[in-house]
Amino acid sequence: MAILEVIKAGNPVLKQVAKPVKKVDSRLRRLMDDMAETMYKADGVGLAAPQIGQSIRLVVIDVGEGLLELINPVIIKREGKVTDSEGCLSVPGIFGDVERAERVTVEYTTRFNKRRALEADGLLARCIQHECDHLDGTLFIDIAASLRQEAPGERENG
Ligand code: ZN
Repeated sequence: MAILEVIKAGNPVLKQVAKPVKKVDSRLRRLMDDMAETMYKADGVGLAAPQIGQSIRLVVIDVGEGLLELINPVIIKREGKVTDSEGCLSVPGIFGDVERAERVTVEYTTRFNKRRALEADGLLARCIQHECDHLDGTLFIDIAASLRQEAPGERENG
């Protein structure tokens, strides 16, 4: 496995609409392994493929409940509204309050090429929305109500 470089805001790859993953193969699984390792090393809770320079629809997430790998994720249901603080590994040192759906259902393909659906709330729901935004070229700083410098105890989350 390998630690990958996390692309920072200002790089055009982060503004692109990522392309669907066409084939779930050993190359893609290796990329997911590297993305997970990179996310853990950076103390993040999520990482989207465009953040490591690959404009494809793939994200990894771990909010402390185990590793989730979402290939071609599509949020099919959103319920409720909640505003909370967010950060991003591609925007180091900046945090902002972002309104998100409180609960989401996401459909995705697994590394074993099975289509699944997952219902999530809390931090996981927020993280899924943040990472799926990356696949459409949207950063949290584009939609945050307010931005601020890092405060003690806050951490970059995805
Ligand atoms: Zn992010």
